[in-house]
Amino acid sequence: GDYQPETTDVVGPATPGKPETGISQDQSSVLYHQIRQKPLNIAGGRGSYLITEDGLEILDATCGAAVSCLGHSDKRVQEAIMEQLQKIPYCYSMFFTNTAAESLSKILVDSTGGKMTRAFIVSSGTEAVEAALKMAVQYFMELPTPQPQRANFISRKQSYHGNTLGSLSVGHHVGRRALYEKVLAKNTGHVAPCYPYRGMQSGESVESYVARLAQELEDEFQRLGPDTVCAFVAETMAGATLGCVPPLPGYLKAMKEVCGRHGALFILDEVMSGMGRTGTLHAWEQEDVVPDLQTMAKGLGAGYAPIAGLLLNKHVVDTLTKGTGAFSHSQTYQGHPVSCAAAVRVQQIIQEDNLLPNVRAMGDYLGQLLHEKFDGHPHVGDVRGRGLFWALEFVQDKETKEPYPPAKKLAWTIHVTGLKPEYAISLMPGNGGADGINGDHICLAPPYNTTRSEIEMIVERTSRVIKEVLG
Ligand code: PMP
Repeated sequence: GDYQPETTDVVGPATPGKPETGISQDQSSVLYHQIRQKPLNIAGGRGSYLITEDGLEILDATCGAAVSCLGHSDKRVQEAIMEQLQKIPYCYSMFFTNTAAESLSKILVDSTGGKMTRAFIVSSGTEAVEAALKMAVQYFMELPTPQPQRANFISRKQSYHGNTLGSLSVGHHVGRRALYEKVLAKNTGHVAPCYPYRGMQSGESVESYVARLAQELEDEFQRLGPDTVCAFVAETMAGATLGCVPPLPGYLKAMKEVCGRHGALFILDEVMSGMGRTGTLHAWEQEDVVPDLQTMAKGLGAGYAPIAGLLLNKHVVDTLTKGTGAFSHSQTYQGHPVSCAAAVRVQQIIQEDNLLPNVRAMGDYLGQLLHEKFDGHPHVGDVRGRGLFWALEFVQDKETKEPYPPAKKLAWTIHVTGLKPEYAISLMPGNGGADGINGDHICLAPPYNTTRSEIEMIVERTSRVIKEVLG
């Protein structure tokens, strides 16, 4: 998730529910995100529910961090993993390939209608973003006339692209960056995201807001030197940090045009928003743009195994093919057979069970119920989303849109309250990157096979949780 408590205070609110686990915090050898607090221990799962070791069934309204898109107990994926384990659990991709990795790459490339032509398979979203950044640099070095001066990246404020130094440098999550500012890369520029709730001026049309954002990107190119920019990186639909903000019509197209004008690459990070979450397999399909490089992760393997990917546009592949013929990057677990077998099965199931229409239909229903329930709430400033990816942003005052102070940890408190046995719902907290400008929010991201009654339960339980916390 996106939430980042203040860096000087690692103690979160008390873990609710029944914290009795038989293993005291002192005995635990695991380092948790909340160092002095041990989270609930999940011992099992069934469909949309997580089951604690004490038997509490928690409605997983967020698929973790928008990951478990088939729910928690799909036998078909479990069997595919077992089969692969018995065939070959691992082989080193520097020396060999394997059928699972080949099949997954073909599924991914085919899913783009041939617009993207190669896949690079890694183990996490962060790694996929790192690979994309390095791939962009290598692309310019291997053009017939190399462009080694292209050493700057531009991305967006309040963005999150991963937790390693490179991905954290392009990202702009103030809370997560704070400790490391001195060692983060300086060759990055950050422009405003497309965020109508706070970014659009009153009376401004969509067209002029989009034009203003494109001009800001143009100005950033000019500030850095247009031919020094390697790539612009953005999430197709802003996920954890801003909280489920769909792009306005024409926005991504306008941003890509600015990149094209200056010869820079256009990278879409679909780690969270891709692989069906927004209603189409690739979120860019709804935006009339095709990226040069595209990352994907969470819904790719649905949490059954760690896996992420990078897709390359044909012209990037062609350049590398004519150049050194190899991506100057390799990782031990690249194309991992078991992870790839899991992802192949997940992707087949999304097609076999016809889940994307369900994402769109249940997503519309979720949006409708959220609007009905919360549009009139005095502290819900914005209800927004697309597909099965929705957020509520909280404000102290709806007129001024004044956010709650980060120290109040409002979103985190809502998350923790949701885990009480009387609510038993897991909600994803976020706080705009802890910059104090954007409000706290919670995200909802149910599995793609969710039902109307689960959607109703999610909204009902969320509403009771918010009532306890905010009145
Ligand atoms: N990019 C985006 C857009 C993300 O949402 C995330 C994770 N929330 C990442 C990158 C990093 O992925 P991971 O946590 O798998 O490393």
